[in-house]
Amino acid sequence: MKTPPLNYLNKKYLPNYRLLLLMLLLIICQSTATINVVKDLAAFNQAVKDAQPGDKITLANGVWKDTELVFKAKGTKEKPITLTVETKGKVTFVGQSNIRISGEHLIVEGLVFKDGYTPTSEVISLRTSKEDLCNNCRITECVIDNYNPLERFESDYWIGIYGKNNRIDHNYLVGKRNQGVTMAVRLNTEESRENNHRIDHNYFGHHPILGSNGGETLRIGTSHYSLTNSNTLVENNYFDRCNGEHEIISNKSCQNTFRGNTFFECQGTLTMRHGNETLVENNYFFGNGKPNTGGVRIINETQTVRNNYHEGLTGYRFRGALVIMNGVPNSPPNRYFQVIDSEASNNTYINCEHIQICAGSDEERSATPKNTVLANNLFYNTNKEDLFTIYDDISGISFKDNVLSPKMKPFQKKGFKTKEIEFKRNGNGLMMPTESLTAGMQPKGEMATPENTGVSWYPRVEQEQFFNTGKVIKVKAGENTLVDALEKSSSGDIIELTESGEYLMSKSIDIYHPISFVAAPSLAQKPVLKFQKTSLFNIENGGALSLDGLIISGEESRDKPLNAVIRTSRYSMINNYKLFINNCDFQDLDVNHSFEVVQVYKNTFADSIVLRNSTFTNVSGSVLALDKETDDIGIYNAENVIIENCQFKEIGFAVLNLHRGGRDESTFGPMLKIDQCTFDKTGQDQRNKTGASIVLHGVQIAQIQNNKFTDCEPIKLHMVVGEPITRIVNCAFKNTPEIQANDEPYFTENLTYK
Ligand code: CA
Repeated sequence: MKTPPLNYLNKKYLPNYRLLLLMLLLIICQSTATINVVKDLAAFNQAVKDAQPGDKITLANGVWKDTELVFKAKGTKEKPITLTVETKGKVTFVGQSNIRISGEHLIVEGLVFKDGYTPTSEVISLRTSKEDLCNNCRITECVIDNYNPLERFESDYWIGIYGKNNRIDHNYLVGKRNQGVTMAVRLNTEESRENNHRIDHNYFGHHPILGSNGGETLRIGTSHYSLTNSNTLVENNYFDRCNGEHEIISNKSCQNTFRGNTFFECQGTLTMRHGNETLVENNYFFGNGKPNTGGVRIINETQTVRNNYHEGLTGYRFRGALVIMNGVPNSPPNRYFQVIDSEASNNTYINCEHIQICAGSDEERSATPKNTVLANNLFYNTNKEDLFTIYDDISGISFKDNVLSPKMKPFQKKGFKTKEIEFKRNGNGLMMPTESLTAGMQPKGEMATPENTGVSWYPRVEQEQFFNTGKVIKVKAGENTLVDALEKSSSGDIIELTESGEYLMSKSIDIYHPISFVAAPSLAQKPVLKFQKTSLFNIENGGALSLDGLIISGEESRDKPLNAVIRTSRYSMINNYKLFINNCDFQDLDVNHSFEVVQVYKNTFADSIVLRNSTFTNVSGSVLALDKETDDIGIYNAENVIIENCQFKEIGFAVLNLHRGGRDESTFGPMLKIDQCTFDKTGQDQRNKTGASIVLHGVQIAQIQNNKFTDCEPIKLHMVVGEPITRIVNCAFKNTPEIQANDEPYFTENLTYK
């Protein structure tokens, strides 16, 4: 074929060309009429005011600071009004920004919120006033990244859902750290009930432990409206380490469905806290052996849990792989309704550790499950013989055709059979039997993965803090050499002390990222750290500290009370911190009274404090005073405290004071282990108000073993709420009073007093 001549605008081609031009013009005209790139808030407001069905309002690339958007408009089903961004990932809202939306058939996409927090109680709100709600709207591909207030217990939601028929999908929500649920479906007015919302394909990223109630990732309803229908569908969402509190999801209304969701290493359970007729099917729970990972908790009536997969869940009590609760007779709405007409069937449990039946049974929660079925479930465990804890009368539950692995011993014969089964891991990472069975789950529908949830255009940054991942900075002895080294450091670096001499600090060392101070391996003697300010190390928000192979002396410290070697920020810390101490010697911390090794403040929270292979000698105050949350509402200062192979000698106050007050049941900790330690003359300072060497109040798990106490004040225990586990074994008490405790039971073995 001949190519047309360059000058092809001859008669032959002209008519076609004209038509083409006309079409092109038409398209251009159409697009300019509907695309409206707005560069500031005034332009946005005008665009919203003028918006007609089918319009698209595009936010210009750039940083929008302290910007509160109100998007109130009416689109139609065929012609929704869309609020979008010029380039996804290049439009960010920072400072005190938020968006409120109301109207019909609106779409919001591509917004990013970071580096700030909402000035109101919601970042994305699907209402503009109590009366003006969203219906048939969609929030898609939005990002909220660590958008937290400075105050840990200042409460907000990231997404508040009101109205009806809204879809919340493909959003990426990571790093919720303050009090308040990440996403809440509200039923507070008639117009928000029977809502048929669809929450799908969202990536709920790492939610660190809050250490209080109010750390749920998703909540649907509240106890007040719990007997109304919500009809919300939650499907194909990915929950990555959503560890805020016991309830990953708190279902508090009727007729909701949860399916195809994946729960990866989440500490907690999908909890049917209030409301009836919930359907939980085809979900996937992977615990990977992590502590406190759980599955589904059943409370209330006509609940169905079927065809779910659970593997490696270790949680106990309210965070078991399956928990069926006892109820309260004639329960008020905010307590526990009896489990009636419910079923858990065709679920698979691989190497899970606890199935809890009639959990929470006590004087108040005495109504046992009724007319409930556990059928065709597959329980397979390579090690454990017994998964079930039965807390009360199970005559209201019928067990049918459940299959156990051969090692397991059923608590009753009826309804259980053991069977040798071979498994093979399939492409989705599920352990599936190689033969066909009537028991257990079969993969059905779509399974949420990191890839098919959230957005593709925003970087996913690991939220967990790690030590020893950065460079090594070598530092010689001298004045403030460590302060100078820290200034040059970044997250995860190791500051190596290369001399055995004296490191004197006339300034304190303020830590804003994870950092390690470590003696060089070649040193014959430990370097000595001395300090002149009120504290040596200050762990500020974002900081974490690891010490290894050092001597820390109070010889140079000021002659005033209340010095501390390490203290947290004096202000609220939104980030949890870690403190690891290994092979260190703390000495001469007694220049004046109440000198503490670690001094924490209210509204700070340690993910873990670990003391190993270290000595503490002549300390006028306490070593760990973790007792600053005194409101007694279930809040506390540290989740995990581990003390191993340490020596405490002449400690004026309690070595450890760990306090969690109140009767709230929504948290896991504190959890404590004290192993292979010696205590000499501890707690004997006349200012020690506790009159104890160790004070534990409301600690959930305490293991105290293989310790020696000589000339010490006693251990004092106050066990409260949540069936705390306290075990004190193999301890010798010489010239030390007996353990003092309230009248809750605890376990002791091989304790000697001389
Ligand atoms: Ca809760």
